Amino acid sequence: DPRIQAVKNLVELVEDFPKPGILFKNLFPVLRNPAVFNGLIQVLSEDIKARCSGVEVIVGLDSRGFLFGPGVALQLGVAFVPVRKKGKLPGETISVEYSLEYGKDSCEIQKNSIRPGQKVVIIDDLLATGGTMKAACDLMEAAKAEVLACVVVIELNELNGKDKLKYPVISYLS
Ligand code: 5GP
Repeated sequence: DPRIQAVKNLVELVEDFPKPGILFKNLFPVLRNPAVFNGLIQVLSEDIKARCSGVEVIVGLDSRGFLFGPGVALQLGVAFVPVRKKGKLPGETISVEYSLEYGKDSCEIQKNSIRPGQKVVIIDDLLATGGTMKAACDLMEAAKAEVLACVVVIELNELNGKDKLKYPVISYLS
């Protein structure tokens, strides 16, 4: 799809960020180009509409899932719900803990943001080890939501993040 090729052309590769040895893929240049950004939102929306029938909620992951999720939710005319790192959301929350390279972290949603049985699609910018997406899937299970798919713009295939996930992964670039 030429719209994805245009995104690919704008992905910035940053060596040694955020740590030595890491090649960071920066998608922010895409947001500086409205035509390319819009093309990406259209492709994501078309694919989710075609492959995730009955989706009721787009769930975006903290923080770069927030850049793409709301645009897709608006296109599809469905709800957007953010998953946030712990301590950022007011009121009652549901949370899950997950392991990082060193130590633990947790992520959460507002308790009433997703109803049991709702069909959700989770969106983030990039799938690396899959730890973040797995935590989000666990959170959806805790909320009794039905996960239809995990959607990312970039999947780092060599890290096999997909293997951690029991739901279909839709990705566009590697
Ligand atoms: P994982 O939990 O799959 O190892 O890491 C994925 C999470 O880290 C995502 O939320 C993603 O935003 C962030 N991340 C890791 N590496 C990169 C990268 O190279 N580029 C971008 N944009 N995000 C990354």
